[in-house]
Amino acid sequence: MTTLTDILLQRIEMDGPLRLPDYMAECLMNPQHGYYTTQNPFGAAGDFITAPELSQMFGELLGLCLAQCWMDQGAPQRFILAELGPGRGTLMADILRATKAVPGFHAAAEIHLVETSTLLREQQASALPDALPTWHDSLDDLPEGPLFLIANEFFDALPIQQFERADTGWSERRVGAKGGQLHLGRTPAQEIPHLSHRLQDTKPGDIVELCPAAAQIAGQIAQRIAKHGGAALIFDYGDWRSLGDTLQALRHHEHVGLFESPGQADLTAHVDFEALAMAIAPHASYSRVTPQGLYLERLGITARAQALAKNLRGEALNLHIAAHRRLTHPQEMGTLFKTMAIVANGAALPPGYEQ
Ligand code: SAH
Repeated sequence: MTTLTDILLQRIEMDGPLRLPDYMAECLMNPQHGYYTTQNPFGAAGDFITAPELSQMFGELLGLCLAQCWMDQGAPQRFILAELGPGRGTLMADILRATKAVPGFHAAAEIHLVETSTLLREQQASALPDALPTWHDSLDDLPEGPLFLIANEFFDALPIQQFERADTGWSERRVGAKGGQLHLGRTPAQEIPHLSHRLQDTKPGDIVELCPAAAQIAGQIAQRIAKHGGAALIFDYGDWRSLGDTLQALRHHEHVGLFESPGQADLTAHVDFEALAMAIAPHASYSRVTPQGLYLERLGITARAQALAKNLRGEALNLHIAAHRRLTHPQEMGTLFKTMAIVANGAALPPGYEQ
């Protein structure tokens, strides 16, 4: 059977080394062999667990945060409730359940999901039987209107470029072939004007990552929100400025080599929130980058956890306590994961965020 490695090696033989973003995109989204198009990555039996898969509390709190923000903006009669990369649909299901009692919110919300994987679209449809979502391949296709958007672990899946610092120039990492195997090579070093500001905080040999797709999408969200109102809540692992090689391949909850099992391992990279902010700033405002644990505490996760714990016993209670810890504790997802909100200039930030 032809594997993705065979296909990529053939392509490299014909066209020369692949750019890293093209390699990443093939591994994740190739229609026949891509990770998200063929695998079921979520949960204990999958490759990783995301916040909404850990506990219903994550989506409940985000839902109430969005609803409050919608009310603060005058409760527009019709708005787009959108999610980028909804995975199994759990987060949107929790958001909708938690906001059922908010007067007018469901009647005004049109649900739109941006998802390229048909396999995951099917799972999202079964998680959201009453929501009548509309699916899109890209953010470009969303209708116009006030936009309330969430993205959890979406930006980390977007293809990145990696540059290795030389003296004053940079060489770009490429995926080539050596001895019939995929091999990480690099272009000769050259000056790259849009990386010149990174000459100050790096030294020769350091790696800097760029994610053009992330900047482009963040800019587009900001433009829509500037025009029609709304808010976006972005959650991901990463920090204000990325430094070093953060590209990782994960399979069955373990790190594997970048070329070990293309299409069968999840590939992600840390999100550079500064790069998102730079793309947002010309159009809209962004919040301070906030650790996920702090944000969830501000929204009252502990009170919610205690209320839910009252009805739980034995193993279910243990799992619930562990999930609360995992979402908020500094040594778990509490600080590694960050959140940032986007609103129109002059609009109030959603609850839990500060300037
Ligand atoms: N938000 C979910 C899933 C995160 S996994 C959760 O928290 O559980 C990443 C999701 O983004 C998957 O649904 C994947 O198919 C989708 N995705 C990745 N790259 C994408 C792209 N370029 N366009 C649209 N969806 C993408």
